[in-house]
Amino acid sequence: MNEIRLSVSMPLDSEGFLRRRCQSCSREFKWLHTPDGSANAVAPPPGGYYCPYCGIQSHEWMTDAQSALVNETVQREAVQIAQRQLNQAMKDAVRGSKFLSYKESPGKPMPEPHPLSEDDDMKRIDFQCHPTEPIKIEESWSGSLYCLICSAEITV
Ligand SMILES: [Zn+2]
Ligand SMILES: [Zn+2]
Repeated sequence: MNEIRLSVSMPLDSEGFLRRRCQSCSREFKWLHTPDGSANAVAPPPGGYYCPYCGIQSHEWMTDAQSALVNETVQREAVQIAQRQLNQAMKDAVRGSKFLSYKESPGKPMPEPHPLSEDDDMKRIDFQCHPTEPIKIEESWSGSLYCLICSAEITV
């Protein structure tokens, strides 16, 4: 089985923040990606980043819309691979036959998944302990917040 790499681009807001969702408390926030849009400036601690709201560590931060986009992209690619394999198998099957021929069917390409968009919502919070890892949180949030990297607690 060959490894297939897919890239799914996730939109950042105008300041380079990516929307995230905590699986534990279901709240959404945003973290800052590096200028090339690939990752946070600081790598996650072994247990994963800490949720700023509930302080629980995780490696899985996709929002529902982001997971749906990934699933759609994977399915679309799987259909295309299956179609290519079918075409090849049919061509192999009829090769050398005087009586059979196979006209390759391009298949119906599945529509491109809808790209996501990202609004400039939420309020920005900077942490003194990790100044390169600001976050954006729900406008209405007040109370404790935890640093993504070290879970230091601040109050907003
Ligand atoms: Zn949480
Ligand atoms: Zn910190």
